[in-house]
Order: sequence, then structure tokens, then C-alpha cells
Amino acid sequence: MTCSRRILRLARFGLTPILCLGAAMTAQAGTRIERKAFGKTTSGESVELYTLSRAGAATVAITNLGGFVVSMLAPDRAGRSADVTLGFTGLSGYLADTSYFGCLVGRYANRIAKAAFSLDGKRYALSANDGPNTLHGGPTGFCRRLWAAKVKSGQDGDALELTYVSRDGEEGYPGTLTATVVYSLREDGGLVIDYSATTDAPTVVNLTNHAYFNLAGEGEGTILDHELQLEADAFTPVDATLIPTGELRPVAGTPFDFRKPVAIGARIDAADEQMKFGRGYDHNFVVRGSPGTLRLAARVVDKKSGRELEMFTTEPGVQFYTGNFLDGKTLGKAGKPYLKRGALCLEAQHYPDSPNQPAFPSAVLRPGQVYRQTTVYRLSVAK
Ligand code: BGC
Repeated sequence: MTCSRRILRLARFGLTPILCLGAAMTAQAGTRIERKAFGKTTSGESVELYTLSRAGAATVAITNLGGFVVSMLAPDRAGRSADVTLGFTGLSGYLADTSYFGCLVGRYANRIAKAAFSLDGKRYALSANDGPNTLHGGPTGFCRRLWAAKVKSGQDGDALELTYVSRDGEEGYPGTLTATVVYSLREDGGLVIDYSATTDAPTVVNLTNHAYFNLAGEGEGTILDHELQLEADAFTPVDATLIPTGELRPVAGTPFDFRKPVAIGARIDAADEQMKFGRGYDHNFVVRGSPGTLRLAARVVDKKSGRELEMFTTEPGVQFYTGNFLDGKTLGKAGKPYLKRGALCLEAQHYPDSPNQPAFPSAVLRPGQVYRQTTVYRLSVAK
């Protein structure tokens, strides 16, 4: 007899179906994933949308096209839910996306100078797509690829595993790289993104997720009054094409000092060369503590809604980007324009241009090694 039939039967006799309640609770423990069709690519491949839900966690929808986080629903302090990530309502928006609204970026997130690097004495030419540089893996990076999806079930419920095999020479990168990303929801409500990759020839790898957050809700104005705390004592200044100069500059006494919570807009228009180059914040911060250890990197609070976002990562750096290239022309999921500085990104990463900067932590991956990175985005209501 099914649980619901048993409940009806016992209820008729005025009895409490204790065993049944237990069963129902067990069934609800952990993460649940629902799958539905999301449309077809231009070449006719089916794309799916996976919705991850768990008691006490944000509800997160993810598509296997580019691994985009399509939505993240989280309550404010009054319990009202809002979608706090920028994106589109349907697949066509993601197929045409040029802002990387929440996708899995690879093979190398952020910029590589002059679209080239040398490894073991050999020079590799990449596809340039950002002036002279390559950005986010080139014109057809991992965000534009269809990933193979699998729902894996374990003791803690379901997790979504996405795999993409990037062929040797794709966008100029050497080696066949097999990348696997597992999205799951943690008991404390965090969205966990576990990355791993292996290669059959020496290569460079730097994977991230490019979610854009507005804690007031997507399309709800700018993030200038959100308060940010960054666990970083230094950042990597850039040149006019946003390539790091190689310097690790202390944040003390600069508009980049977020060691204590500060409103993002407080110093964004400061007469500062770095702010001019980035058109706002678009810089890599050196996360305090040991790379390889999952540690708090950033905390953002929107005092109006009460929503808080914490970001934890194993990566050496985080790109803090304030949506400076958004221009109000893109309409969001609720039909509202995505304004300049209408969202913020906290992209866990190796420092930009590491393949050309020997003093930066190495992004080289060799056969037999496993690349790993874990990042957690946790939404809650600020205390
Ligand atoms: C980069 C920005 C870029 C944005 C969207 C960020 O990671 O640092 O310069 O505009 O991604 O592509």
C-alpha cells in the first residue's frame, strides 16, 4: 500500500500514521533533482534543464548547455522568494549569450595575454576574442558546449554530474581534456560546484562558474549598495587590456580594500587608474589562506532584502567583477533591463594570464595528474 493510501486509511480511524510520516521524511532528505526538456541546439541536439531542490537551500536550475546556472531562488528576510542570478527564460537566450550569465568557463577562465603561451618550450596560439587577448577559453569555450549530464544518487540525495571532453587543439589548447563538474546542494544550503579534469598531454586549465548575482533579485537595479567583504590582502593590478602586470599589490589604502564590509559603490568611481582600466571592479583578488583548502573568500549582504551570499573556494584567486559591461540592453527573466553594475560576479580561479606569468600559481596540468577545484555559493538571510 502506498504511503498516501495508508494515510487516508488510518486517518479514517483517527490514527496518526507515524511510520508513514517517517517514510515521507526519509524520502525528502537530501537533494532532489527534476529534469525537463529545455529545447534543442541549432544542430538539433536536445538540451535539458535540471532543478535541484533541498529543504533550507536555494532552488537552483542548471542546464547542460554550458552548465549555466539558469536560476537560483532564495527567500528574503520576510520569506519572499526571488531569483538572484541573471539569465534568460529560455534556451535561445543562452545560445546567443555573450555575457557568460552563470556558465562553466573553460578551458582557461579569464584572459591569456596576446592569445598565446609557451609550455615545455612549445608555443601555442589560441583564438583571440577580446582585442589581442583570449577571454574565457576563446570564442567557442566550454560555455558554448553541450555537456553530457548524469543524475547521480547517493546517501545525501541527488547530484548533477556534467562532463565535457575538449579535444586536443580545440581553441588552440594542447591535449584532450576531460572535465567533470558536479553540482550539488549541501545540508547548510550551499550550492557546491566540484570540478575535476584530466589530460592526455601537458596543458593549462582554469575552470570557473560565471554566475551574476543581484541579491535584491535579477533586474532589480544595481548592486552598488550591496556590502562586500573579501578575504584578500592583495590583488593583481592590470594593464589597459586587463592583463595582470605581475604585481601583487596590497589592498590597504586603495579602493580594493574590502577586508571589512564596504558598500560596493562607495569607491567605485574613485580617481584610480585601476578602476579606470576595469571600468569599475574587474580584478583578481588573492584569497587569503592556502589554495587547495576550502575557505571563505567573500561575503555579500543586501541590507534591504536581508539576503546574504557567502562564497568559499579552494582556488588561489577570485575575480570580482561588477557587471561593468552590462548596458541595459539585455532584458532579464522578468523583462527588466540588466543595467551597468546590475550584478556582481565572484569567479573562483587561478590568476588571469598565469600561463605567461611564472611567478603566479601554476595552472599547468600534466597526464597522470588530476585538476580539482571546489567552490560553494551559500545563500542565507543575514543575522
Ligand atoms: C571578465 C570581464 C568580462 C566578463 C564577461 C569577467 O570574468 O573579467 O572583463 O567582461 O567576465 O565576459
